[in-house]
Amino acid sequence: MGMASSWIDGAPVTTAGATHTVINPADGNAVAEYALAQPADVDRAVASARAALPGWAGATPAERSAVLAKLARLADEATSDLVAEEVSQTGKPVRLATEFDVPGSVDNIDFFAGAARHLEGKASAEYSPDHTSAIRREAVGVVATITPWNYPLQMAVWKVLPALAAGCSVVIKPAEITPLTTLTLARLASEAGLPPGVLNVVTGSGADVGSALAGHADVDMVTFTGSTPVGRRVMAAAAVHGHRTQLELGGKAPFVVFDDADLDAAIQGAVAGALINTGQDCTAATRAIVAQPLYDDFVAGVAELFDKVVVGDPQDPDTDLGPLITQAHRSKVAGMVSRAPQEGGRIVCGGVAPEGPGSFYRPTLIADVAESSEVWRDEIFGPVLTVRSFTDDDDAIRQANDTKFGLAGSAWTRDVYRAQRASREIHAGCVWINDHIPIISEMPHGGFGASGFGKDMSQYSLEEYLSIKHVMSDITGVAEKDWHRTVFTKR
Ligand code: NAP
Repeated sequence: MGMASSWIDGAPVTTAGATHTVINPADGNAVAEYALAQPADVDRAVASARAALPGWAGATPAERSAVLAKLARLADEATSDLVAEEVSQTGKPVRLATEFDVPGSVDNIDFFAGAARHLEGKASAEYSPDHTSAIRREAVGVVATITPWNYPLQMAVWKVLPALAAGCSVVIKPAEITPLTTLTLARLASEAGLPPGVLNVVTGSGADVGSALAGHADVDMVTFTGSTPVGRRVMAAAAVHGHRTQLELGGKAPFVVFDDADLDAAIQGAVAGALINTGQDCTAATRAIVAQPLYDDFVAGVAELFDKVVVGDPQDPDTDLGPLITQAHRSKVAGMVSRAPQEGGRIVCGGVAPEGPGSFYRPTLIADVAESSEVWRDEIFGPVLTVRSFTDDDDAIRQANDTKFGLAGSAWTRDVYRAQRASREIHAGCVWINDHIPIISEMPHGGFGASGFGKDMSQYSLEEYLSIKHVMSDITGVAEKDWHRTVFTKR
């Protein structure tokens, strides 16, 4: 069960820290054991990334693209291993890992293999009569990346691939409890021909390895996906050195159902949008805001489907919903649900933690919640949908935006003007119309407000890892230039 604990300078390393056991949340059994990295290992990984940077940043886009394209092929061929690791360390249903996590990651790798060859900017030209100006795009440098446990492979790919495509070198710290697929990604990248040191993985907890990496003096940028409070700590650590940061943080997505919506579609969409990955999804539908005339039917329809959801063994292809990530996380979710009635919420279904060793929790629907209530305002990160009604369109938009978060939201309507208004006025990095959740490699993902800033996926995320340089060349050859007059005159 013992395994390499980190990946530094192109090779697996067994670090000297305490042993950590990866637990399968579906049954509480041990999946793997590995030694945690220590701050000195972070220093080694950063030094290795620093040493590898000039070679990788200096490679041609075509050379980088070829390695990344090969990585996409190898990851595709390793699908069954990646699925097995992801399911055992997170407890996510095998259907989700097979149809979403792994193929989505492979597609994202493939996308960045192509994007590596598409550096764009303003045309070189004579913007002044005396100069030619040109734009260069250069790799930011050594990137420190910290990722969460909910989609370990996808979150790693979303951060690492644009950085590699841009010519950066990377040190990534996955969540301590879910390191397996990130280590496999590094091994596959090495097999694909990525030079040693360009991608390093240090495993360990946020408190020691994470903070050592976020606050490291010799990285150039810190990118983070995780919760809002930790993201702010990471930003503060990076700010000590003035390092560039990019943060993908929490969410509390509104799901607005107007009175002209296709009710069946909205009910189906709410169930899928709320329960994906057992609700442990930053864009999950969490706040349904439903027009008064549809409210009762919406609540009844969602409750009916929630009750039919198959909760159980993630390895079984018929399972819809796996466990929550840990017993501690289930206690947090259950605690929030149990406090909801004190604030006026009506638990329509769920609110139940099945017996047994796994950290399972039934899909839970809470209606009539108060706007001020904890379950309406704070991220629950579990299979819990809360519902309120609205009176008119202004009220719907107001409720949708009455949150500190701004990651995603959706509007359900057959009225083109309402759809346009919702897409314009819902304050979030992504607004879906008549759907909720789908993502695509060509399009950006990232939030506003307390959900962070900067983009993952798409050409926009490549920008995060590039610095823009302006090169301005004199084309006159004249020593005494016209503009010198503004500073001094020959006397
Ligand atoms: P988290 O507790 O914030 O942890 C995220 C990562 O930060 C983990 O690797 C964690 O390490 C590390 N960390 C913890 N404390 C740290 C510190 N002081 N310095 C540096 N790193 C530190 O989040 P999570 O519970 O893993 O993930 C769930 C959260 O992620 C939710 O809020 C969700 O909305 C958000 N999320 C956002 C997006 C998005 O795209 N916006 C996507 C996915 C998830 P350890 O866990 O190993 O200690």
